Amino acid sequence: MITRSIASVDSLTWQEQLAESIRDPKKLLEWLEFDQKIIDSLLGGATEASNDFSLRAPKAYLKRITKGDPNDPLLKQILPSKEEMYAIPGYTTDPLEETEANLVPGLIHKYPGRVLLVVSTNCAINCRYCFRRSFPYQENKPGRGEWEQALAYIRNNTSITEVIFSGGDPLAASDKQLRWLTNEISKIPHIQRLRVHTRLPIVIPDRITDDCIEWLTSSRLLTSLVIHSNHPKELDVSVAAALNRLSQAGVILLNQTVLLAGINDSIEVLQELSERLFQMKVLPYYLHQLDKVKGAAHFEVNDATAKALILKLTSRLPGYLVPKLVREIPGMPSKAPLL
Ligand SMILES: *Cc1c(COP(=O)(O)O)cnc(C)c1O
Ligand code: SF4
Repeated sequence: MITRSIASVDSLTWQEQLAESIRDPKKLLEWLEFDQKIIDSLLGGATEASNDFSLRAPKAYLKRITKGDPNDPLLKQILPSKEEMYAIPGYTTDPLEETEANLVPGLIHKYPGRVLLVVSTNCAINCRYCFRRSFPYQENKPGRGEWEQALAYIRNNTSITEVIFSGGDPLAASDKQLRWLTNEISKIPHIQRLRVHTRLPIVIPDRITDDCIEWLTSSRLLTSLVIHSNHPKELDVSVAAALNRLSQAGVILLNQTVLLAGINDSIEVLQELSERLFQMKVLPYYLHQLDKVKGAAHFEVNDATAKALILKLTSRLPGYLVPKLVREIPGMPSKAPLL
């Protein structure tokens, strides 16, 4: 009998890779070859925290984690931990108050000129710091009928010029569905731009299929894709190959990062991240201060430290490689710059 091992990840489709994601903390720790002593110290908290927001990571991402290193910056983004269960004042289940801007199922209109569509409620990975931990996704699973409502809203608001595919992760949806939606949007004359916010090119680079590039580039819309990488270690050769296909096809590439304590709150890491992104023809866009979602307080970097990091980055890199430091404040008409 042939068992599929990590060596064969590359021959699986992206859907198969998604289906084979690791979801059990014990399995993850064993797969990463931790000593029994470390497994014993991490497993209790990981198991308990994963009841609240489950562990989920595909092997294409796990391959980039250094085996046996509990401080690996990629591992820290995905491994549930006991810190998530501490109740910290100010950390809530709806930090962005998005349920208020969510008037039509699947559509969030908070900022003038652009609307966000929750195209898929799924992600290929569960990032521990994510505000999605507690977003009411069950109420945001539009079928075609509900999409008609969202499309009607966009049609009737001529001030909207840009549609943003978001989620969850929009690339967790099928290319067929994404092509249909892109096609419907391109029929609306006042829409000029389509933007896709996705972490999938980082998590499962094989997601960037020929079909995907085809729907991204074949409409009349000006198309950009905002990836989400938090650490240069995520940007390996497989990611470089996927991004190269996108940039060769003419898709404008940007990156957003969340500033995370113990993961990327160092000048060296942020500098290397910007430099590697640019090698892959991606410009740094935003560096986000963490949304204050319950369970993520241990990732917080204070504003003074965040600003100092950006000033230092500015002294080391050309301006176009320095991301804008921003925070989302409920009720504001855009993300709020901190500098
Ligand atoms: C971030 C965000 C946008 C896009 O904002 P930009 O500053 O244009 O990148 C749009 N809608 C929502 C709800 C957002 O959170
Ligand atoms: S929405 Fe983005 S940050 Fe949140 S879990 Fe999904 S991929 Fe991670």
